[in-house]
Amino acid sequence: MTPPSKPSTSIAVFTSDLRLRDNPVLHAALRAADRVVPLFVVDRRVAAAGFAVPNRVAFLRGCLADLDAGLRERGGRLVVRTGDAVEEIRRVAEQVDAGEVHIAGGVSAFAGRREGRLREALGGALRVHGAVLTAAEPGTVTPSGKDHFAVFTPYFRAWQGVELRRPFAAPRGVRVPPGVRSEPLSALSLLGSGSLSPVLPEGGERAGRRRLDAWLRSGLGAYADRQDDLAGDATSRLSPYLHFGCLSPVELVHRARKSGGPGADAFVRQLAWRDFHHQVLAARPDASHTDYRPRGDRWRSDDAAVAAWKEGRTGYPIVDAGMRQLAAEGWMHNRARLLVASFLTKTLYVDWRVGARHFLDLLVDGDVANNQLNWQWVAGTGTDTRPNRVLNPLAQARRFDPDGAYVRRWIPELADLPGRQVHTPWTLPAPERHALPYPPPIVDLSEATTRFHASRHTSD
Ligand code: FAD
Repeated sequence: MTPPSKPSTSIAVFTSDLRLRDNPVLHAALRAADRVVPLFVVDRRVAAAGFAVPNRVAFLRGCLADLDAGLRERGGRLVVRTGDAVEEIRRVAEQVDAGEVHIAGGVSAFAGRREGRLREALGGALRVHGAVLTAAEPGTVTPSGKDHFAVFTPYFRAWQGVELRRPFAAPRGVRVPPGVRSEPLSALSLLGSGSLSPVLPEGGERAGRRRLDAWLRSGLGAYADRQDDLAGDATSRLSPYLHFGCLSPVELVHRARKSGGPGADAFVRQLAWRDFHHQVLAARPDASHTDYRPRGDRWRSDDAAVAAWKEGRTGYPIVDAGMRQLAAEGWMHNRARLLVASFLTKTLYVDWRVGARHFLDLLVDGDVANNQLNWQWVAGTGTDTRPNRVLNPLAQARRFDPDGAYVRRWIPELADLPGRQVHTPWTLPAPERHALPYPPPIVDLSEATTRFHASRHTSD
């Protein structure tokens, strides 16, 4: 009689793919072995680099608790470790004698270094999966002779032609080998310092799927018409779930396309923007901190103006409303992100890195690829083909918050001003203006625009 063979074990390392459905990493790890260790490492280096901020840590804790619950329903559990990711993965791999270690391919410099070190530590046992964190894998949609697209429109044309894989179902059962130590999720609260926003979304795949279902049912159809309506709040708010991978971008594209119509087309286009920035960062990881296209800027340093911008008291209500939404919710409407970023980098002519850091300190969806490259796009050092355009906050307010409802929601001290007066409180007669607990504008718009063009040596 032959002795029963020892059950084989693999490891599924979760990174920004905190989900059971359509997770190629988990799917492959389960196929590779009888037993799997679903592993998440709280990497101290991420915290040290300033990425473990309270808003994202709070959301992440929800994601991990939900993932653990989902695995337990299937007979497994999540193993959580704190330390250096490579060291911890290697330790677990040795302990369980793992035949294969599966992980999603990332695009940041940090992910690149981690992958390199893992390859050294694990050799041929490492399996890196593409198209986990994005719909199309970075580096697969390229112009001839180049490693990435530098402009969105041609990228989007090529991206639309990519045949996406079919999504994987969630596993039915997960068998975890006994004796693998896991730390309590409460250890996560030790990470990060800074302020926690009062109103945050609930983390996790289940919460993400509830939001997704509601969005497909009742938001997507009107998205093309309403995506820029600041007060309407008519975008999906799926970005935190995409950032942490509670939802699969591949599945989202399939489901939106199945719904069809102009709303779905516009939504899929935004998902392609996400992929676009990821493929830029994959090719140019240094773009997280250096100018993608240097313009010879000699940015101003103006601590008082930056503080006013961060605190939402620039005297421009539409800018301040956006900044106060960010502080309160750890999220900001895309239109508001565009105009507050233009205000900082062009009107105040302050370095985009200052704004990007502040966003990363608060955004629940704060993401190196999307944040840094959107900031660069607005600052004109990135992929925008019109790098010197300056968004006028008053024109933006009239167009995207025509009756002032967004401003009134976020700046209660202006809530009683009628109609569009809310956008220009400084035009009130002196006694009323002085009675308002709201500051006058910190900068004159036309002087600021002239200063920007002179500094950039541009005449657009
Ligand atoms: P929806 O309008 O419903 O769009 C659906 C999804 O498409 C989003 O969830 C997001 O994943 C993706 N998407 C939409 N617009 C963009 C875009 N311009 N670039 C990349 N992906 C996009 N997005 C982040 O996810 N993380 C960030 O850190 C981030 N920082 C930004 C900083 C600035 C200065 C600007 C201008 C934009 C930034 N964005 C960022 C992009 C965008 O503002 C958010 O993705 C969007 O507002 C999220 O809301 P939503 O989920 O309701 O978006």
